[in-house]
Amino acid sequence: MEEYVDLLDRALRQLPRGKTNDSRFIIPTPKVFMEGKTTIFDNFDAMCNYINREREHVMKFLLNELGTAGKIAGDRVILQGRFSSDEVEHQIQRYIDEYVLCWECKKPDTHFTKMDRVWVLKCDACGAIRPIIKRKGGTVKK
Ligand SMILES: [Zn+2]
Repeated sequence: MEEYVDLLDRALRQLPRGKTNDSRFIIPTPKVFMEGKTTIFDNFDAMCNYINREREHVMKFLLNELGTAGKIAGDRVILQGRFSSDEVEHQIQRYIDEYVLCWECKKPDTHFTKMDRVWVLKCDACGAIRPIIKRKGGTVKK
């Protein structure tokens, strides 16, 4: 079972990121399960690698949106409280819509950059730039 999970993680890491003609960006399904009063997001690290974003930034978003506390422990995240995989997946989807996908060409080949002291999302595929929306309850930091 361990080996299978390892293989799966490795396979996920090796997936190309929107470099093909197929513009559909397929997000790995979050592996989420509850353990007592906490929720484990088991493939958090693989997810961050896949979407090419810093773990701390994804984590901050996740905690804000779920309204809970938690910590990164190795490759996984431990959240206080019980959340379904659907809830976690929904938030990851929102994160990707907001911080990963280009609004113009819908490709995930983007990165954060600073322009005039404002963080923007720049698309490597089409060159589009848009400001990163400031979320209520916190400022956006890289
Ligand atoms: Zn673009």
